[in-house]
Amino acid sequence: MENLKENMEKSKSLYNILQENRSDDDLKIKDLLKKHYTEFTNSEDMVKLFSNHENYEVYKTDLFTYPIVCIFKTEILIEIYGDQFNIGYLNYFENEERTKILYPVIILSDEVLNTRNRTLINYVLAHELGHYRKNHVSSIYFNDNKRNILKEVEADLYACSLLGIEGAINGLRELAIYLIDKFPKSDVDEVLKRLTFISRKYNVSGALDGFELIEKEDKE
Ligand SMILES: [Zn+2]
Repeated sequence: MENLKENMEKSKSLYNILQENRSDDDLKIKDLLKKHYTEFTNSEDMVKLFSNHENYEVYKTDLFTYPIVCIFKTEILIEIYGDQFNIGYLNYFENEERTKILYPVIILSDEVLNTRNRTLINYVLAHELGHYRKNHVSSIYFNDNKRNILKEVEADLYACSLLGIEGAINGLRELAIYLIDKFPKSDVDEVLKRLTFISRKYNVSGALDGFELIEKEDKE
């Protein structure tokens, strides 16, 4: 255990180097990520994700520079997360007290990137950034291992501040449309609830237009 702690300390400075050297040299970034997530930590998922450079690409967004965004092959994410598969993630480690996010990285599935839907991509990135900026550590996020819709809304509100209300609402709409099309068994209801909350909060009408139609079609 002592050794792990020591390595975690080493890895902290490594992570700072990684951030400072945020260059166009993706291979260098990948080497550092691999070292960081496989040698200095003991998370099986992280090891699987970052041990092979072929699993992902480093992505550059205009929205922010930290944390680093990695685009993973969807089949890898499904292999690792199974039923818990989601299109975007904030992965991180925590300090011992579970009060602070350490070494965050934002993960996005390549299928989302392949849509080339800028509104959708920016929304998912801004939402995941929100989880990081609002410090949604496991001790405040999870309750019985379930998704915490209040924290999801908080991440949505952060997306509103970053993208503007219209950008965030359009992004949530695109997310719902995408999920209905590609992952009909996913919790689209949760996304629509969040969309309802945000649009009511900011008095935006018509945010749910079109979705009732989809429901009706399903019922017929
Ligand atoms: Zn979320």
